Amino acid sequence: ALEVRLASRPKGWPTEDDFEIAEVEIPTPGEGQILVRNVVMSVDPYMRGRMNDVKSYVPPFQVGAPLEGGAVGEIVAVGEGVETLKTGDNVLHGLGWRDYALVDAKHVVKVDGSVAPLSTYLGVLGMPGLTAYAGLLATAEFKEGDAVFVSGAAGAVGQIVGQIARLKGASQVIGSAGSADKVKYLTEELGFDAAFNYKDGPVAELLAAAAPNGIDVYFDNVGGEHLEAAIETLNLNGRITMCGAISQYNASEKPTGPSNMIQILAKRLTLRGMLVGDHKALQQQFVSEVAAWIASGELKYSETVIEGGTAQAPAAFLGMLRGENTGKMLVQF
Ligand code: NDP
Repeated sequence: ALEVRLASRPKGWPTEDDFEIAEVEIPTPGEGQILVRNVVMSVDPYMRGRMNDVKSYVPPFQVGAPLEGGAVGEIVAVGEGVETLKTGDNVLHGLGWRDYALVDAKHVVKVDGSVAPLSTYLGVLGMPGLTAYAGLLATAEFKEGDAVFVSGAAGAVGQIVGQIARLKGASQVIGSAGSADKVKYLTEELGFDAAFNYKDGPVAELLAAAAPNGIDVYFDNVGGEHLEAAIETLNLNGRITMCGAISQYNASEKPTGPSNMIQILAKRLTLRGMLVGDHKALQQQFVSEVAAWIASGELKYSETVIEGGTAQAPAAFLGMLRGENTGKMLVQF
């Protein structure tokens, strides 16, 4: 069986050489453990941060050790003392980047592929979906009538943020993304009122043109120039959810901060950081509301699925960083 290890800590943009595909024995579950054959795994932006040797809210990956991350698989063997799970069950767990995962039964969540496709537990109904839901409704305290701007809008989190805003009565929903096709997807498929390709010019100008009445909420997935443009465009008492800053994850030099921070004072803006792990209390409300919107057709989602399992995981991860995904980037085994 195969697993992906961190071969070296990337400096700036990672390359295939920073990963090693290693051959390993299939393990046998001990007491309280289960053996899972992975079916689909997630590649996420936060994994780039874990490749650096810095202290953060999750510890760094270790060079020579397998990478970790969200995955869904099928239980193929069950150790002694495991009462609640059986062979054939599907589970969500934290040991992707490998063909077979040996996990503690108490660290997995049972999922049902007949209720929703297994991939959605890693996307729209999983961590990215909850990030969108909590980041908009709890962190930004979205209210009906707000004009909402979301960057990274065609990605896993962004595509859900914009649609929740629309469904909850935003006065305008604006998105930015990195290609003409993604812009079209936002306005023609997802019901965004306006969208632009941030590569077409200065973000401040593109945003001002798309939001003539300003914005009340900015959901930040990107940071940098996008954040500065949003501060410029936000209305009085506007709110910013700081969810991510992907434009800076591969920077080899210290990024520069927004030059217009003084507007936070003048416009009484609120900037609030969020981590999805702090919002477990919203999980049930999130799933029931979003699943109902999917069932009624009011909320749509995309996935970009790379075939080929473990061996293709590094390429999928690098592709996601470059923007090759629309919606959630996944690896199918
Ligand atoms: P996405 O599915 O959005 O994939 C990443 C996308 O980032 C790419 O598709 C690409 O799209 C875009 N991107 C890459 N480089 C740049 C750049 N320089 N400027 C602008 N956009 C860029 O990922 P997720 O939805 O999983 O994550 C989105 C953000 O949310 C990330 O910042 C992530 O770290 C954060 N996050 C935070 C969480 C939290 O708890 N705080 C939890 C989950 C995610 P494009 O073609 O548009 O450039």
